[in-house]
Amino acid sequence: MSEPQSEPQSETIDFGIDLGTTNSAIAVARDDGIHVFKGNEGWDYTPSAVWMPKPGTVQVGLSARNQAGSDPDNAYAEFKQEMGVASALRRFHRGGVSLTPEQLSAEVLKALRRHVADQDEHGFQPAAAVITVPASFTLNQNDATSRAAALAGLGDQCPLLQEPTAAAIAYGVRDASESAHWMVFDLGGGTFDAAVMSKRDGELQLIQHAGDPYLGGKLIDWAVVEDLLAPAVRRDLGLADFHRSNRDWRKNFGLLKKEAENAKIALSRAASTDISVDLHNGRGGTQVFEYTLTRGALEDLALPFYTRAVRLCRDALAESSLRQGDIDRLLLVGGATLAPGLRALLADPVDGLGIRLDHSQDPTTVVARGAAVVARTIRVPRKPAKAAPGSFAVELTCPAQSVDRTGIPVSGRVTSGSKGVDWTRYAVTLTDTDSEPPFHGPRTELSPEGVFYTEVTIATDTRSRFTVRLTDASGTRQRLAGDTFSISYAEVVPGDTVLTGTLGIGKADGTFDPLLRKGAALPSGVTKHYRTTIPLHRDEPDAVIRIPLLEGERRRADLNTRVGLIEIRPRDLRIDLPAQSEVEVTFEMRASNREVLATAYIPLLDQQFEATINRSELVAPGHRELRDRLGELEERVQDLQDRADEEYSERAQAQLADFEEQNTLAQLRREVDAAGVDTGAAVTSDRRIRDLEAQLDDVEQAIEIPGLQRGLWELLSGCEDTIAQIGGGPSDRQQLRNLRDRASALGDGATAADLRRLTKRAGQFQVELLSRTDQWEYVLFEALASMRDRMTSRVRADAAILRGRRAVAAGNREAVATANNELRQLLPPEAADAVERLTGGLD
Ligand code: ADP
Ligand code: MG
Repeated sequence: MSEPQSEPQSETIDFGIDLGTTNSAIAVARDDGIHVFKGNEGWDYTPSAVWMPKPGTVQVGLSARNQAGSDPDNAYAEFKQEMGVASALRRFHRGGVSLTPEQLSAEVLKALRRHVADQDEHGFQPAAAVITVPASFTLNQNDATSRAAALAGLGDQCPLLQEPTAAAIAYGVRDASESAHWMVFDLGGGTFDAAVMSKRDGELQLIQHAGDPYLGGKLIDWAVVEDLLAPAVRRDLGLADFHRSNRDWRKNFGLLKKEAENAKIALSRAASTDISVDLHNGRGGTQVFEYTLTRGALEDLALPFYTRAVRLCRDALAESSLRQGDIDRLLLVGGATLAPGLRALLADPVDGLGIRLDHSQDPTTVVARGAAVVARTIRVPRKPAKAAPGSFAVELTCPAQSVDRTGIPVSGRVTSGSKGVDWTRYAVTLTDTDSEPPFHGPRTELSPEGVFYTEVTIATDTRSRFTVRLTDASGTRQRLAGDTFSISYAEVVPGDTVLTGTLGIGKADGTFDPLLRKGAALPSGVTKHYRTTIPLHRDEPDAVIRIPLLEGERRRADLNTRVGLIEIRPRDLRIDLPAQSEVEVTFEMRASNREVLATAYIPLLDQQFEATINRSELVAPGHRELRDRLGELEERVQDLQDRADEEYSERAQAQLADFEEQNTLAQLRREVDAAGVDTGAAVTSDRRIRDLEAQLDDVEQAIEIPGLQRGLWELLSGCEDTIAQIGGGPSDRQQLRNLRDRASALGDGATAADLRRLTKRAGQFQVELLSRTDQWEYVLFEALASMRDRMTSRVRADAAILRGRRAVAAGNREAVATANNELRQLLPPEAADAVERLTGGLD
């Protein structure tokens, strides 16, 4: 079969693709509007599933998705979550090949390209497209998406666009308001995303997002299967061992899952629906299974999932310091938002969000259509036209799209195939003869270098096509290559790209140090100074300093995703490197392709080390490791439960109860069990475990809160004593009152960070009081000396303490200060934090 030709190069990319977990869609921006291409089944979208019925034959779409249930060894769906994980291979038994998630995604993209070719009169298919990705995708996942596009023949320059931005653009095209805040609510098959968007002067910006990569319509389907259908099958067919974890019933469960989804979709319109399906009876035959599902029963099962999504929306609002009332509209995206029960819940001001719902756009194609709108703003890089001898060519610079109608800047440079042209004798005129009324720009003379600058006006209803006319001194028109260009009017365009995941490094103590923060406008760069913890001697070749580059929001380094690594080894050094040497780590992030550059520079050696960003390096952990980590997690939950009870921490107790209520551990146990036979499940379990660990970190913080509160109040009474001792004045008392008021104002809702901050302030206040007595160096020395057992080197600590004691005896304050400094350096970071209370303002 001969490959269809690529579309003859258009000026702009024009095609937009929603490469979804469950469904994918492709749309194009043409002069008369946005068109969505239908798939083989005549739908506007194509199920993201791949089936290989025999070697060399690949089928994508509905047939493949159906087979994923009944022929699980030869058909796969839902691989998008594992993008970027090289080990997440899917084995096609009959086809005899194994494909990575990006190869599978490439098959989906190829199918979408073919759908375009099938409907194009010349059989052309797109040469490039804007492809959407979830806002929560990591660098690895974005990179894998670009690779999938290249594999599918879309070139290696496909721009990526965040799904919520794409959706908001599609909605925004019809919105006339000058400035607005919207919230995108995207509930798909497997993932949930919420994004707060702001629109100002026609620019659309994603300002905050929250989501859950394991929340989607398929969980509702499985709840129907496990809670309603499977018990009925056990009863009606007399199959006592009919459980999802029993591999013998894999096919039946696949069939039931499909029936459950169809029934769920039917219940968006009807109040009740009948399921009837032939199930294998385990004795070589089949038996009909029948069940009547009502909308009420479905909604009861779906409610916990909906509630979770609502909570995440509230989190996103809180993080962006906005209230529900500040959001003008809630834009519904994703197939699962078609459910009337969900819409009713969202509209409810108490249980839902109470934001005006907007479901005017088809939720399953809105992302692809938004991507097409953006695709029209991106010019295909084209080779500058070359002038033949005796003729001319022009290179133009102008926007592809504009939110303004008039005064749009266009500049250009005219070149000639001949040398020594006197450009000042030439002029250009820009025209658009098709517009109503036609546009005729002023005659603009060229500079001695052949350069011009002018402005044009565009029409609002269509793409405006301009021609550049080059004339000589006598007014004779000259032949000019590359003389046409077009500009479209847009009501809304995407604003700056922002970083959606924090980037930083993992430090030697296991903590994450953020360098480029989530929300930063791109491109962006930053440099920060660190010190090495170990010496590197060139005669110890096995020593290494590792600087992991991480992406994520967790304080613990290992809970974030590793996107790269810088290694400094003795063999790469010119001379030995002592411990405590300075290292400058620099991160740079480009806007266009989210490419990250990271380096470590060592001034002492004047040497620079580059990071290896090996994005497909992510490996799914093995089954045993997952089981061990699950075991640890379970123990930790138990331990936190005990501590929460001991400390009477109501908040921690509530968080743990929530954990219990959502059946989190049970769900995870199921997933880890499945990981034994399914790489997809292994990757999901790995991420889920990391998520839960981070959640437990929060619980741990909540448990610490009562202790932090006690410490703060004790410190405040300490300050009161000190004021009495030193005979402080009214302003000291006033300051103390202020601090107490602030402590009371924190109340029960205080976070650990709030409390730590205020404790630090109170500590600084106390040090300030003590410093007036000339005594505080001594106080600090006593505090530091009492922490001797926690110092990193006891030998050095003892020596410093001895010197300090002598200095105290001699009344030598300066020498005491020196000893204090030495001791402070010997403290591990967490203990240094405690001393900070006594040494505030010293650094
Ligand atoms: P994704 O973004 O994951 O590719 P979609 O946005 O296409 O997915 O949504 C797919 C999900 O929407 C599936 O779980 C599907 O069952 C669900 N869905 C589709 N139509 C309806 C409907 N009318 N009512 C409820 N859920 C629906
Ligand atoms: Mg989607």
